Amino acid sequence: MTAVQPGSLLHEGKAKRVYATDRPDVVAVEFKDDATAFNALKKASLPGKGTLNCQISALLFEQLAARGVPTHYLGVADADNWMLVRPVRVIPLEVVIRNVAAGSLCRELPIQPGTALDPPLCDLYYKDDAFGDPLLTEARLERLHLVNADQRVGIERLARRVNDELRQLFDAVGLQLVDFKIELGFTADEQLVVADEISPDTCRLWNRAVADSQERILDKDRFRQDLGGVVEAYGQVLKRLQQTCPQPRVYQ
Ligand code: UDP
Repeated sequence: MTAVQPGSLLHEGKAKRVYATDRPDVVAVEFKDDATAFNALKKASLPGKGTLNCQISALLFEQLAARGVPTHYLGVADADNWMLVRPVRVIPLEVVIRNVAAGSLCRELPIQPGTALDPPLCDLYYKDDAFGDPLLTEARLERLHLVNADQRVGIERLARRVNDELRQLFDAVGLQLVDFKIELGFTADEQLVVADEISPDTCRLWNRAVADSQERILDKDRFRQDLGGVVEAYGQVLKRLQQTCPQPRVYQ
């Protein structure tokens, strides 16, 4: 990498590795080709996925930033599956926004898949694989002391804002944003920002032009449901976004 040199490994997750760099205000994120589902019970390596998720996330973070949504994103590196971001203290919450009922919502409640959710649902989960990322109640969230009441309000407001912007971005290229998960964190100066990634690993995206309930899927459900064509679907998402978004900037 020309702009910064990756240093020690700070964290390895299921889909990414995070490294310190020679600059204290920059960390480097390497997107892996590894795919996991069902709390890592299902695993595979999908060559090309890391690069696609890195480039898709970069485009989306850049478009969010252009619309005034604060993110940790700084730019991509000159290697295709590396992104440079600001260091943040990630809040161990998975913030899920649902525009259309799918996935766990339909397994856990009598709601038909495909039901429009207006206003969109905002579900908070405690991010800890050992506990299976449980859905939180407000009282349990309060008990965990992860965030204060104002921060709780700020988290939902920011997630709904992200939803409004992403929906428009995806709609413009013929994709329906069914639901997504984001992670948020605090920067050194205590600003709440969107962190982690936004990609077909973390969003449900349906091709609006296709009626078939399996063929229209362009996200990780292709992997979860053994539908095949996972990398091709992610490639289609990137290609579509590239129609309206400029190339992500290379961090200098
Ligand atoms: N999601 C994610 N990571 C998780 C759990 C969910 O990125 O650990 C995303 C998932 O891809 C979907 C949304 O969050 O876009 C809602 O997922 P859901 O609760 O329906 O769980 P699932 O059916 O994927 O188990």
